[in-house]
Amino acid sequence: MNRVRCLVLNAALGPLDYRVPDGMDIGPGSVVECPLGPRTVIGIVWEAERLPGTDVPVEKLRNLRGVLPVPPLSAPLRRLIEWAADYYVASLASVARMALSSGGALKGPATMTEYRLTGGLPERMTPQRHAAIEALEGEQANIRELSGIAGVSEGVLRGLVNQGVLEPVEVDCDRPYDAARPDFAEIALNAEQREASDIFAAAVRKAEFAPFLLDGVTGSGKTETYFEPIAEALRMGWQVLVLLPEIALTENFLHRFEERFGAAPVLWHSSLKSTERRRAYRAVSEGTGQVVVGARSALFLPFAKLGLIVVDEAHETSFKQEDGVRYNARDVAVMRGHFEKVPVVLASATPALESLQMAESGIYRKIDLPSRFGGAELPAIDTIDLTQEKPPHGMWLAQRLVDGIEDRLERGEQSLLFLNRRGYAPLTLCRNCGFRYQCPNCSAWLVEHRFTRRLACHHCGHEAPAPQACTECGEPDCLVACGPGVERIADEVAERLPQARVFVATSDTLNSPGRAAEFIAAVEACEVDVIVGTQLVTKGFHFPDLTLVGVVDADLGLEGGDLRAGERTYQQVAQVAGRAGRGSKPGEVLIQTRHPEAPVIAALAAGDRDAFYSAETEMRREAGAPPFGRWAAITVSSEDDAEAREAANRLGAFRPQVEDCLILGPAPAPMALLRGRYRYRFLINARRSVQLQDEIRRWLAQVDHPPGVRVAVDIDPYSFV
Ligand SMILES: [Zn+2]
Ligand SMILES: [Zn+2]
Repeated sequence: MNRVRCLVLNAALGPLDYRVPDGMDIGPGSVVECPLGPRTVIGIVWEAERLPGTDVPVEKLRNLRGVLPVPPLSAPLRRLIEWAADYYVASLASVARMALSSGGALKGPATMTEYRLTGGLPERMTPQRHAAIEALEGEQANIRELSGIAGVSEGVLRGLVNQGVLEPVEVDCDRPYDAARPDFAEIALNAEQREASDIFAAAVRKAEFAPFLLDGVTGSGKTETYFEPIAEALRMGWQVLVLLPEIALTENFLHRFEERFGAAPVLWHSSLKSTERRRAYRAVSEGTGQVVVGARSALFLPFAKLGLIVVDEAHETSFKQEDGVRYNARDVAVMRGHFEKVPVVLASATPALESLQMAESGIYRKIDLPSRFGGAELPAIDTIDLTQEKPPHGMWLAQRLVDGIEDRLERGEQSLLFLNRRGYAPLTLCRNCGFRYQCPNCSAWLVEHRFTRRLACHHCGHEAPAPQACTECGEPDCLVACGPGVERIADEVAERLPQARVFVATSDTLNSPGRAAEFIAAVEACEVDVIVGTQLVTKGFHFPDLTLVGVVDADLGLEGGDLRAGERTYQQVAQVAGRAGRGSKPGEVLIQTRHPEAPVIAALAAGDRDAFYSAETEMRREAGAPPFGRWAAITVSSEDDAEAREAANRLGAFRPQVEDCLILGPAPAPMALLRGRYRYRFLINARRSVQLQDEIRRWLAQVDHPPGVRVAVDIDPYSFV
């Protein structure tokens, strides 16, 4: 083969053909350096028959510059890239880029220099040198990291290197991970768990595509159930991918994993340092990284020999990517399993309606874990009708809920209050002139954060100090906080139950694995009486002394009324309710609402999941909503309002006329201004028979836009802002 077709990593270009210089050994999937004008871009060699190209004569082709020292992307991964680009109406290049997600790893093996103590002493001892030598006993890292550990400047340490007190050590950047051992410490499973795990393990051995829905109540031990098929894959010498929704909060999971397998898994998430990223990437591509625990982006890693995929908390909306290629990791995971010919386990206590429907129609095999592990009972659930049991003026918690917390305090048990709103108050206004504090970049109110004394936008990150006087009319002390956030609820608990030790658990306070670990340790040591938290506390945590869960405002998620509002409310409340009574003490859940008769609230109170899902299914069927019909959103945006509006109108003029396909818009998006961009939106609702993606591709291809205009396509959207 002296001519190859390459997918170059540039979304504006189609595939390009190159000549292969003599002696260069490449094949489909090879990662190569392609000349492009005066530059060099990275490309992936692709099967020519799968990518339409041009017929440039071979003598006019330019030579490839080189091959990068990484294993070629496998055929199943190439098929996944093609599928995702096609399904999500994205460019092949932007999807392929997700599979080449470590620039460092592509450069091949490398070493780095670290330093350690030699045992020698400097000619002249100073207090700083003394402190450094004490602090660095047993440490080995680069100078910058050592300076952090020792708390002295890098200059001090370089002085110690010159004096021979610290010596350089060459370290392999890609040193192997500790081996996970399938038989390290087997876990006792109950009969239900054993039956499920045997089914999964058998599927692993068969090495065929097999999608499963593991539907287990909160506290049923789903994790332990899928540990056994992981062990089976390891025994076969295969790799495993486990997707988790909140990778920053995996302490508990990692602890259990290490206890079971005797080593930590390979982690993959967006806050890895670039050295950790390259090490993980190379280990995965070479097959030595055995079990990857990752966020959604791990789905596109180039596994050498994948044997099993697990998606835990598969209903989580954080598996939906909301920028760039707008994919849903749950669905892509199933497709990767299909191409790799391996089983996929979607685990959840509150499966997405789409997943249940797939099980119903026999495409997924559903495995149930109907009871809690160790005989724990599911909590008793009751509603508090806020129109009848009104909280005191200016407060948010009904007396019955506060009494419940006080009971727990007296018994030395813990309570959790759930409100999915960070900060102190979602809106600040001036009592004197009525001015409302709004984000300059977004159609959103600024949220007061009282801990940090700032007003912040939760969409773009804009922040300003909380003013002492109204910035509009100048009146001092006239700003009023409207509505509660978790900080305000924590204040209220502190005021009404001064003896309680309260902890606010949100992404503001649990913003690193270390902080999360401290929080867990404090709760386990019973140093916290009341946790006030956002959706971050709805999952994963297992606190045996936590016996009361209060949902501060169950109606919050139902406002705005998008397609999935009812389902999301059900999932959130059911998940947070699942934190109660996981040990030997029974749990109680109190749900505050102004609409106790709303179907989703009534179903929660009655513990009648089936009733909720069947009502929701009928509603979706009638609305032609997923999984019975298709939705897509197209957002046209620009920093200039007029430009965005004109571009949207121009696009609107070319809308396709297709039977069974309704195109609404363009209309200003609910967030008409987001991160400084004005947004206009089309919503498309189509029957399943419509070739939706093809129609959208043809439509968008007809209209050119000025460079400042962006057009974003969202297939199966979750966010309707
Ligand atoms: Zn004012
Ligand atoms: Zn903003």
